Amino acid sequence: MLSESPADAAPSTCGLSLEGLDDVEDYPWDNEGERLMSSGRHSHLYDLVQMGNKAFRENRLDEAINHYSRANNIKPADPIVLSNRCTAYIKFSEFLKNRPPSVSEYRPLSGLDPTTHAGLALKDAEKLMSLRANSVTSYILKANALILLEKYDLARDVVYSGLQLDPLSNPLLNLERSTASTTGRRDLGKPLRTDDFDCTLCLKLFYEPVTTPCGHSFCCSCLFQSMDRSNRCPLCRTVLFISPRTCATSVTLNNIIQKNFPEEYAERRSEHESLTNPGVDLLPLFVMDVILPCQKFQLNIFEPRYRLMVRRIMEGNRRMGMVIIDSTTGSIADYGCEVEITDCEPLPDGRFFLEVESRRRCRIIQNWDQDGYRVAEVEWVQDIYPPEGTVERDDLQEMINKAAAHARQWIRRAQEAAQGDRIRLAELFKAEGMMPSTRDPERFSFWLATLNNRRPPERLELLRTRDTKERLRRGLIYMRSEDERCRLQ
Ligand SMILES: [Zn+2]
Ligand SMILES: [Zn+2]
Repeated sequence: MLSESPADAAPSTCGLSLEGLDDVEDYPWDNEGERLMSSGRHSHLYDLVQMGNKAFRENRLDEAINHYSRANNIKPADPIVLSNRCTAYIKFSEFLKNRPPSVSEYRPLSGLDPTTHAGLALKDAEKLMSLRANSVTSYILKANALILLEKYDLARDVVYSGLQLDPLSNPLLNLERSTASTTGRRDLGKPLRTDDFDCTLCLKLFYEPVTTPCGHSFCCSCLFQSMDRSNRCPLCRTVLFISPRTCATSVTLNNIIQKNFPEEYAERRSEHESLTNPGVDLLPLFVMDVILPCQKFQLNIFEPRYRLMVRRIMEGNRRMGMVIIDSTTGSIADYGCEVEITDCEPLPDGRFFLEVESRRRCRIIQNWDQDGYRVAEVEWVQDIYPPEGTVERDDLQEMINKAAAHARQWIRRAQEAAQGDRIRLAELFKAEGMMPSTRDPERFSFWLATLNNRRPPERLELLRTRDTKERLRRGLIYMRSEDERCRLQ
């Protein structure tokens, strides 16, 4: 029994509107054929059909079908019973077909599917046609059933035959109009959508196809994903000497696809774009270390999964998150930092050499696997400042100014001490160049903390705190301890 009424269903969305199904036929009390039946059986049959009709008119279609089926058991080839049951099957199939997926997910209907019902409707319609060859109703029912089975060409033929019986039948004229539009759509001479246009790697329509020198075509991203593991053609194993940089899209193949399968192509494009531009609050993650904002460094990307990630990032906003595995929990730390790839050099062997700058920190809400790397939903986190114009805010600004003066002196002294140590010297110059404005307390406090190399748990704490003064204090302590370490050497 259905727990919802078909009346709740949205109006027809199955592409074509059905016609001539508004009502069922009432059973005549003195039906001629029933003279041969006992009066008891006849009145039972009459009652069943009338109960079925009542249920039909109140949109309890499954009940109606039950009553008609019982009537059909009593009298198997009755045109009224068949016609009414056929109408109910069609209406029910249409209801199931238009049931929104969200409803089906929460309230699955077991054992009922629209195609089964449309198939049963077709059987009844065909039986009816053999019983009442000159009735337009049977043509209308058969055409509706065929439409639900998506056999539009056959439906159109039935409509034409019906119109020869009654050229003025409104339901048939309406059905003719809608079935003509489907056949019109199909006769444009488009190539049939066979799997000739599918990529053998992702089994979907080609997106930005490339053709290898060995003559095989793949989506560009699929081919290079496969080449992250082996430089051979995935189909014929020929060694390939191509790179994403030099490899061009097959223009002709791409045009054929775009012209002939525009909807599917658009779907593929949005799929691709969601991978390259995951959205403001989603970050692909490079799991390596705790990075603080205001750092500049280089990365060598060699793992296949990260090569794929970097290619996608480079097509999008060039940003990724950097995180560490928290040694205390064994899973991804709760805070990370967004970095921007400022320079990306693909190496001939498929690796990437990156220059990155860390921008802002984020809290990781959740993360999941995507094609081997991790993607996280993040929340951007900022320090909580005392309001502008308050004593506390002035205090903070004074602390920043002092820390800035101290940092400048500290860097100068460190540079003098590092004469001869080119690597250390370069580091110090870089840090000096990265110094943010003292009018941005949060950024400044992070920068101050980058002047020393601290252990990951300490850096993670710096990301977690939203208290700028606390971060400044720690930065200053780190500098002092570094001074002492130098003095002892
Ligand atoms: Zn593909
Ligand atoms: Zn090949």
